[in-house]
Amino acid sequence: MIIRDRLYIDGQWVTAAGQKTLQVVNPATEEVIAAVPAGTAADAAAAVRAARAAFADWAAAPLEERAAWLKKLAAGLQARAEELATLITAELGMPLDLSRSIQTAMPLDIIEGYADMLDCFQDEHIDSALVVREPVGVVACITPWNYPLLQVVLKVAPALLAGCTVVLKPSELTPLDAFLLADVVAEVGLPAGVFNLVSGSGEEVGEALARHPEVDMISFTGSTRAGRRVSELGAATIKRVALELGGKSPALVLDDADLSAAIEATLDNCFINSGQTCDAMTRLLVPEALYERAVAMATEGAKAFTVGDPMGGEAKLGPLVSARQQQRVRDYIQKGIAEGAQLLCGGSEQPAGLELGYYVQPTVFCRVTPEMTIAREEIFGPVLSIISYKDEEEAVRIANDTDYGLAAAVWSADEQRAHAVARRLRAGQVAINGGADNLIAPFGGYKQSGNGREMGRYGLEEFFEVKAILSPQK
Ligand code: NDP
Repeated sequence: MIIRDRLYIDGQWVTAAGQKTLQVVNPATEEVIAAVPAGTAADAAAAVRAARAAFADWAAAPLEERAAWLKKLAAGLQARAEELATLITAELGMPLDLSRSIQTAMPLDIIEGYADMLDCFQDEHIDSALVVREPVGVVACITPWNYPLLQVVLKVAPALLAGCTVVLKPSELTPLDAFLLADVVAEVGLPAGVFNLVSGSGEEVGEALARHPEVDMISFTGSTRAGRRVSELGAATIKRVALELGGKSPALVLDDADLSAAIEATLDNCFINSGQTCDAMTRLLVPEALYERAVAMATEGAKAFTVGDPMGGEAKLGPLVSARQQQRVRDYIQKGIAEGAQLLCGGSEQPAGLELGYYVQPTVFCRVTPEMTIAREEIFGPVLSIISYKDEEEAVRIANDTDYGLAAAVWSADEQRAHAVARRLRAGQVAINGGADNLIAPFGGYKQSGNGREMGRYGLEEFFEVKAILSPQK
């Protein structure tokens, strides 16, 4: 049992203002594995005070110095990489191999990448004006549980590089990796107040941060519901609010596509992390002429997605993060059946042979129509909906017929045609024929998927204010 009984505020591990704790449950074993403080509004306020006090010096520090701190943080985390991966598998349930790569190596690459991104701070001349970039101020980072360290790093690394100071509130379901990050912050001796960690619930700590007048910006990743709430609260003091929210992303397979490659990649993308991925391709759009073949291939392909103990090294999918999430996903599967979609594989029952753990079977539905609940709402579980279309016009219409707009995929043998369709899709990232992962390309949503961008230069720019210094005309 891991007991974390302090919060990291102003460069020190301090006792929380309240007595309550939050338990962390291993979703594979259903056992309580850790307890962390349930921070309060008073803790949030203390952290904001510390961040505010540290801001001026941190913002004024030479850029190279801030970059060097990021390198130290990356090195400190690297030294504990295996511990981190194991911790994330224990709190989240992602298979350990994937936790090593996606949940650990990738966030470390991102910190390193930002530490090298010094050329984005150039001043600009616009006629007689000198345009300079300055840090926005104190940033509250509110993060979810599905890629816990990755989402922390996507906010904290560019914010620190930009010269902002931060207060981090991680998800109460997966706070342990954030505590390890704070350990590293303490070890390397980052100046007091630059990074602060307050664990606690969204309602208590998250809302206190979103309300706090000394917080200049909220960088939030999570549900559209909570994103809307922090926007409302932040509006009172006109905070900048960057939101990375949910999705219902379409994989649009055109009639000349390599069907087998498209289906294999879509299943992978939809099921990874047991479907708990904001940009998961959860709607597979196929032309009517290829529909029967697509259905057969998807049914066959889904069999490869074995479910089981995430520490065991065999299974491709672990459990979902919590009993609540498992129930949500099961309810969606039942709703799909009740609304007339055809279940090809999977279902809402506990997978065979796994009595314990919040597992859900990888599930594929066909004969899904665009108005069904499973085609419209973010399920956040391993559930794929296959939808057929008549022609390209209808395909684009269905793809865009969603409240969300985070990501999409287009498959076609003709790259120009795929590009033309990609341009018509209202989404922040569109992958063509399995487009490669890119950790410096902008990532973020249109419509109710959010309003900011993370990753690379665009992710850094979120944390800048832009100032024009006007000189007299010569
Ligand atoms: P939430 O949006 O509730 O959680 C994300 C973060 O926001 C957590 O740190 C949470 O705190 C915090 N939070 C929650 N409510 C508030 C609030 N009122 N004010 C400030 N902060 C708040 O996601 P859930 O865990 O409830 O997941 C529900 C659904 O959200 C999922 O099924 C999925 O559809 C979607 N989701 C999308 C994600 C994405 O990457 N786009 C990530 C996670 C979820 P707390 O610690 O209390 O949870």
